[in-house]
Amino acid sequence: MRVAGVDIGGTKTALGLFEGPRLLERSTIETGPYGATLDRIAEWIALRSPEAVGVGCRGPLDEETGYLECVTPEDWHRRPLGPDLESRLPLPMTLVNDADAALMGEVGEHERDPVLLLTLGTGVGGALWTGSHRYRGAFGEHPEIGHVPVFEDGPACACGLRGCLEHVLCRGGLAYQAEQAGFGPEIARFLSSDHPGAERVRQGVWRALAIFAYAYRPGRVVFGGGVTDDFGHLLVPFGQVGRERFPFLVRPLQVERARLGNWAGVHGAARIAREAFGEGRP
Ligand SMILES: [Zn+2]
Repeated sequence: MRVAGVDIGGTKTALGLFEGPRLLERSTIETGPYGATLDRIAEWIALRSPEAVGVGCRGPLDEETGYLECVTPEDWHRRPLGPDLESRLPLPMTLVNDADAALMGEVGEHERDPVLLLTLGTGVGGALWTGSHRYRGAFGEHPEIGHVPVFEDGPACACGLRGCLEHVLCRGGLAYQAEQAGFGPEIARFLSSDHPGAERVRQGVWRALAIFAYAYRPGRVVFGGGVTDDFGHLLVPFGQVGRERFPFLVRPLQVERARLGNWAGVHGAARIAREAFGEGRP
């Protein structure tokens, strides 16, 4: 089955064409004004004639109605993304949160352990694989794992809290912290330093890992997204984390980099459509 996968991020939209699980072609376009971006997505897909389309998009999303909520910039806020895409592309289509899409790109067919995935990019998204399914909250909503608060004195967030993980680890948040610490635009040099600001970022990562490890006890925590591609080696303690850090874990926690990097969302979005409309349908 030929399926297109789309991953709409804050600055870039990734597109892929698949035959079964095999990637045939991929491309990225800039995420610009709402209508123009949807036109370009539809144009790329229509030229390749897939049988179905899987879409992942950042931001709180009502998967039933296809409405996006609380997304910046203002032009994307409260938009009927699902209906607007379907009117441009009359094809079977699935629409999910981008972290859910990335999760489906990363988890194996028969994976049993809970897997927690974080995408670090324009924002910080999260998704949880448990009981061989993507975790769904009430009313089918996905969890907003990037909004766990890690610093009570951190900046106010649109989600209603302060000091959310998103502000510590998203690209804009890292750029702001680097600049405040006197490193200008050099995020990598800031994160490599022993400046108290960089120590605080590391502390935020450990606090979040502790929350995830103790609240969900995942077999592994996977970090994806563009910020992980660029700075993951300076941000995330990849490898096994044992009882020296989290004494209440009986066995170590595995912390990994997304196997597909920033392309996990495109692969996962296509997989969700493939499973909904064709091969591998449960
Ligand atoms: Zn927040």
